[in-house]
Amino acid sequence: MSGENYTNTRGSVRTSEIFGGKDRAPRRSRPALTVQEAARETPVFAETDVLVVGGGPSGTSAAIAAGRLGADVMLVERYNHLGGLPTGGLVIWIDRMSDWSGKQVIAGMARDILDRLPEDAVQGPARTDWGSTDAATAAYWSQRTAAFHGVTTWSPTVDPEALKTLSMQMALEQKVRLTFHAYAVEPIVEDGAMRGAIFESKEGRQAILAKVVIDTTGDADLLARAGLSFETDSDPTDIHSCINTAFMIGGVDMARWIDFKTGDEQGFKDFMNRGRERLQYFERPFVSWRNDVALFMGPRLAGYSAVDVEDLSEVEVRSRQLTVGHVETYREHAPGFENAFLMLGAPQIGVRHSRRLIGENKVVRAQWDEGKVWDNEIGVSTSLAPKFPNISVPYGALVPVGIEGVLAAGRHVACDTNSHGFLREVPQCWLTGHAAGIAAALSANAGIAPRTLDPRLIQQELLKQGAYLSPSIEAVAASGTKAAEEPQKRRSVPITPIPARRWR
Ligand SMILES: Cc1cc2nc3c(=O)[nH]c(=O)nc-3n(C[C@H](O)[C@H](O)[C@H](O)COP(=O)(O)OP(=O)(O)OC[C@H]3O[C@@H](n4cnc5c(N)ncnc54)[C@H](O)[C@@H]3O)c2cc1C
Repeated sequence: MSGENYTNTRGSVRTSEIFGGKDRAPRRSRPALTVQEAARETPVFAETDVLVVGGGPSGTSAAIAAGRLGADVMLVERYNHLGGLPTGGLVIWIDRMSDWSGKQVIAGMARDILDRLPEDAVQGPARTDWGSTDAATAAYWSQRTAAFHGVTTWSPTVDPEALKTLSMQMALEQKVRLTFHAYAVEPIVEDGAMRGAIFESKEGRQAILAKVVIDTTGDADLLARAGLSFETDSDPTDIHSCINTAFMIGGVDMARWIDFKTGDEQGFKDFMNRGRERLQYFERPFVSWRNDVALFMGPRLAGYSAVDVEDLSEVEVRSRQLTVGHVETYREHAPGFENAFLMLGAPQIGVRHSRRLIGENKVVRAQWDEGKVWDNEIGVSTSLAPKFPNISVPYGALVPVGIEGVLAAGRHVACDTNSHGFLREVPQCWLTGHAAGIAAALSANAGIAPRTLDPRLIQQELLKQGAYLSPSIEAVAASGTKAAEEPQKRRSVPITPIPARRWR
């Protein structure tokens, strides 16, 4: 369990480190007016097999995976880089990929990416220590993002710039066409199927037509604009609901800070109280991939909506004020921070939760106890605590109800709020993106709707690409191939071609 991944088990993050929205600024009422926009002809920028919207962990993974299957892939991203929150949002703590026995169950794309990062860009325990219950090893890593419940786990911190570079390189290797500085604003929906998306850029408004779309915006922007309903419930007092702009402080000595925190209980308490008195809200740093850089994945602000532009703006203002207050307080009073400076406020706001898909299947809390393995499993997630088994993730959690031609991956897949506590983490987003990319390419290549794709085909390809599946699923998928015996097209709904006249 990480400082983030703790829904319902409140571990290393204290409620006092969540800053409630009670002081939220009063809102000016919005005028009850509308303007009528002129109807327009929107030029088509490109046609493609697979359109991925959003270049975070899920989108990057999806685009690479689809490209590996030979699909023509376009990726549209509103910022200037790939990686999403773990790069632009400074969420550089990649949560647990090894289960409580030490087996890496989130493998596939997650492993491909982490194995290719330069050695000095990753900080985490050696493979031989994953699953170790050795007290000294766990005590060391518990202060460094990688031991929970006395077990050392594979949950490293990474250099965000190295992850940006590698994500881009891996996408380009698969000939993914990257379109940065492009904000997707509207899905193109016809006959109940998503056929592409309209995006805005400095060039204005343009359309991309696609055989299959993958919404990896984190907030299900395209699916929401297509009129779908979502689940949005989450406990407003929980970290899950918090939004913030993270920051990194440079010029520090984290080893010294950890010695202080673990060796001088009273001094540490006094320091935290001093911070709370000064700022009301005060939080502790996490380690990063370097000893001289401290990571703050806060200030955690509760009570705001991630899809309300005024809330997002207010979070930026408050985050900046609290960021500066933290830097000053730490520099003045914290051992190891004497030469600290504000290195970077995240360019990308940190949203943990906004909308959750209503999908063909849903991962729910009851499943954790049952240990259910879905027949259409596309991956296995680590669980929140050793008392729970690994969690089987079904393909149906990526398949929206009520619309064809589109898949969802990343932090808005279909699950309940408890399961969202871990399905939103970076490795799980690589995992669902990996499956969505494979499914989209298989659908586009075969000319069938993603919903009707045989999951065994996805499983077979996932295994080829190094993913881990539950042993029972792997046995069926590997032994073959009922899927191959029953030609897909016989039972599948074909993708109807978009009438050319409409678009040219
Ligand atoms: C403060 C914080 C701390 C966290 N801590 C951890 C942790 O310790 N460990 C962990 O593993 N996970 C952690 N998480 C969770 C994790 O970072 C995210 O849930 C995960 O990155 C989500 O991945 P994603 O691909 O779904 O979305 P994102 O990472 O949000 O990426 C979405 C991408 O889509 C782009 N985009 C969005 N809308 C549009 C649009 N309309 N048009 C074009 N582009 C668009 C965005 O710019 C972004 O690049 C944390 C999250 C936060 C906010």
